[in-house]
Amino acid sequence: MHTRLRVALAWLPALLLAAGLAALCLLPSRLLTPVQPVPVQLTAGQQATVQFDGAGDAASLSAKSSAPEVAQLEPIMVENGRLTCRLTAYHAGTTIVRCAAGRSSSAAYAVSVVEPEPEPLTDGDFVASVSGEKYHRKDCTFAGRIAAENRVYFLSAADAQAAGYAPCSRCLGS
Ligand SMILES: [Zn+2]
Repeated sequence: MHTRLRVALAWLPALLLAAGLAALCLLPSRLLTPVQPVPVQLTAGQQATVQFDGAGDAASLSAKSSAPEVAQLEPIMVENGRLTCRLTAYHAGTTIVRCAAGRSSSAAYAVSVVEPEPEPLTDGDFVASVSGEKYHRKDCTFAGRIAAENRVYFLSAADAQAAGYAPCSRCLGS
């Protein structure tokens, strides 16, 4: 009886070590929690800073994007346990991004990227009426009399002349 107990006790440190190692391997990695909601939609060309708490003092940073040509998440640095990443949108589409710092990793986030809206042609330095012959500076009295729905805007005097308009003698006359 005593001999068996002694044998069992002799194995105890080894068992504890094995259990400890197993626990370490099975230890779930900590979750990086976003400080602000991760943007779900960006415009191509746009950048956003995304920060996560729970990074500890991790030295190894990584990030993944399922479609790197759509958008990418780049880890920048860890400061006081907070991981700062830069999310850059490149092209229209959808991608799933996530990042990791040491043993901590974030949830996966779907980010969709849309193409920027084309600039509406509603402004310019020169204006004419669709039915008129003259173009004006925007601040010309005559320009103000053109109904909004009839206005044609030009970015330059050359554009207005190319469209067949002549300079107004009041605001553009020499
Ligand atoms: Zn004018």
